[in-house]
Amino acid sequence: MKYKKFHLIWVIAAMLLLTSVGCNKAPQKVVKTDFLMDTLMELTAYGPNGQKAVDDAMERIKEIDSMMSVSSKTGDIYKINEAAGKQPVKVSPETRYVVETAQHYSQLSDGAFDITIGPLVNLWGIGKKEDVPPLSAIKAAQKLIDYKKLELDASAGTIGLPQEGMSIDLGAIAKGYAGDEAAKVFKKYDIKSGILNLGGNIVVVGTRPDGKPWRVGIQNPFKPTGNYVAVVEEENKAVVTSGVYERYFIKDGKRYHHILDPFTGYPADNGLVSVSIITDKSIDADALSTTTFILGPQKGMELIEKLPGVEGIMITADKKIMVSSGLKGKVDIVDKDFTYEAGR
Ligand code: AMP
Ligand code: MG
Repeated sequence: MKYKKFHLIWVIAAMLLLTSVGCNKAPQKVVKTDFLMDTLMELTAYGPNGQKAVDDAMERIKEIDSMMSVSSKTGDIYKINEAAGKQPVKVSPETRYVVETAQHYSQLSDGAFDITIGPLVNLWGIGKKEDVPPLSAIKAAQKLIDYKKLELDASAGTIGLPQEGMSIDLGAIAKGYAGDEAAKVFKKYDIKSGILNLGGNIVVVGTRPDGKPWRVGIQNPFKPTGNYVAVVEEENKAVVTSGVYERYFIKDGKRYHHILDPFTGYPADNGLVSVSIITDKSIDADALSTTTFILGPQKGMELIEKLPGVEGIMITADKKIMVSSGLKGKVDIVDKDFTYEAGR
């Protein structure tokens, strides 16, 4: 009897140990990738609902892509561009929200950010063509750019472009919106730990599975994807980067990239090679990374400092890193070729 009792205690102890090991098991990790919005999307979710979360989030991104891409014939943006100079087009409330948000950033930057940049984007064709367009063509395209002419009728739910040849391009903001919407899907499935990487537009959901903040790498603009200059630790934030390395060509030793300055008609050329914005909403981070890149190191950083809850990291061609005041002491430089700009 005594022996049996002793034996039973060991069996119970072993069972308890097994259950506790089971409880401590790392949560299941699910990763889904796809090529959408002209870029690689990688969605990672931890936990029991992970698979459903990444599947539904990817579907949501696809929906937004077809609604907002310039080439999707059934989408709002394609239809608005086709109807330029003719009539306004009834669009989804989502498209209106993204366009209204874009207009806000155009006003904040006096037109440095401008989604009516379509004619100039098409002319340069960065990523497709490798030639500098003639100045006369650049000037003609510039004449068609003016966010103030965009007709937004909230009560009718329409958007119109008054002149033939004008066109909208949401390349600088749609991915940001998609990031917010994908994060909503993660929250719906109660994902406490996840990362949405929409071609370098990052949204971190919750914390790492061990409860610590996510460590987000800031891409080295001079090296292949996955080489980082610095690391920031964040929870529930968007970290969005605009950089010269994303889409470009090199002609006669000069790099021509895809972030265009509407005032010069050429790729923004102000000493910056990348800008990362950290804030709550990915749509704001996306619009602002492009906006501040075009505004340049001084004006761009001034704008970041003016906006509550917005932080930024700017990297210059001479490998200097500038950070906004809220990030001082919080950015871990991991590549010693890069140094803080003096005084920061
Ligand atoms: P991002 O990578 O978010 O900085 O966005 C760059 C993309 O936005 C380009 O590939 C163009 O499609 C578009 N774009 C380029 N210049 C501008 C601009 N000045 N304002 C708004 N969108 C722009
Ligand atoms: Mg952007």
